[in-house]
Amino acid sequence: MGRQVPAQKRRRRDRAAASVAPPAIARPLLKWYARAKRDLPWRGSADPYRVWVSEIMLQQTQVERVREYFVRFVERFPTVHELAAAREHDVLRRWEGLGYYRRARQLHAAARRLVADHDGEFPRTVAGLMALPGIGRYTAGAIASIAFDVSAPIVEANSRRVFARLVGHDRPLGGTAGDEPIWEVAERLVPRRGAGRFNQAVMDLGAMICTPDRPLCSRCPLADVCVAHRTGRTAAIPAAAPRRTATIVRETAVVMWRGGRVLIERRGAGEWWEGLWDFPREPHAARSRGSRLGMVSYTVTHHKVTCTVVARAAAAGAGSAAQRWVTPRQLAALPLSSPGRRIAKLVVSSGSP
Ligand code: SF4
Repeated sequence: MGRQVPAQKRRRRDRAAASVAPPAIARPLLKWYARAKRDLPWRGSADPYRVWVSEIMLQQTQVERVREYFVRFVERFPTVHELAAAREHDVLRRWEGLGYYRRARQLHAAARRLVADHDGEFPRTVAGLMALPGIGRYTAGAIASIAFDVSAPIVEANSRRVFARLVGHDRPLGGTAGDEPIWEVAERLVPRRGAGRFNQAVMDLGAMICTPDRPLCSRCPLADVCVAHRTGRTAAIPAAAPRRTATIVRETAVVMWRGGRVLIERRGAGEWWEGLWDFPREPHAARSRGSRLGMVSYTVTHHKVTCTVVARAAAAGAGSAAQRWVTPRQLAALPLSSPGRRIAKLVVSSGSP
């Protein structure tokens, strides 16, 4: 629940927010952006394919991590046609380590749809882009504004914080209801021309100046008009969202051996790391059968998992349709889940039993 603010005070704040005029933002912001913008490998091109790939990768992933993945990905799949023609296996292998694999599968599905239905051309409207798999309001706005100069707003982690502070919006953010007022602010401020530059400038300002902790207001081009700064509330905005507590999980991964090969299985629909390969799991027991290879700890969607890894010889008849027997060398070429990759390293370093 957000903090209760008296109605009169709220009205005063809302008036202050409304006083943040679009030109007073765009002009100084774009001037600052021209000299301070980040040098990123997907910048400097209005190719919608590159914008799209970068924006999908940037969802829930830090910029520094995305840099190397982006370069490798577009080297391997330089156009939407090449991505559409690729096998899902190859796409997931290039994505491995970036997390949230649903993004990669949807990217691939959308590439196939673009080629099949649009001759590989991207729709030029937000609505047209949002009809593609995995493209939501934010990504559609980014592609439309950056690649096609459509006056479309965007709200993501950095711009959300900047806009909230600019207008002094002190209610919790996140989710459709929490973010809607921020989308309205973004809509009001995005210029009719040069929206792509404006959107990227807001994101850069959030990443470099208007940081979550201790924003550098003395170096901010918008300090004169920023409500949070003028009213001394930069530490209170954005309001903290309630924290989710992590669920603790213990499990056992089994490295099953048969004739120099190990058994792996493909994660099914709705499972963590859907579509990727991993080692079979069984409920954790104080004493598992087999020899202990080590321990792997990982965090996934609010779960903290401690996984004990054991190796044992396969029982007769082990293996099902979703499973494969592979040599330790073959593991290197397969798209594995992130704990699966770490278990594979234990397998390689321990050798076959
Ligand atoms: S003045 Fe401070 S709080 Fe306001 S936008 Fe700039 S950095 Fe953020």
